[in-house]
Amino acid sequence: METQPKNCMACGKPVKGRSDKKFCDDYCRNAYNNRANGINSGIIRSINNDLKRTGKY
Ligand SMILES: [Zn+2]
Repeated sequence: METQPKNCMACGKPVKGRSDKKFCDDYCRNAYNNRANGINSGIIRSINNDLKRTGKY
């Protein structure tokens, strides 16, 4: 029987409940999946490119 506490892969908090859960709730699961899919990083990248282009940063 597995007794090791699992931590949420998104926020790092201990996950309660079933041992096969990777996230503490749907919010964390969505946040992690969005990050994994590169949605957020893509937005950040385009913002950085804009800043470089305008020379304001
Ligand atoms: Zn979480």
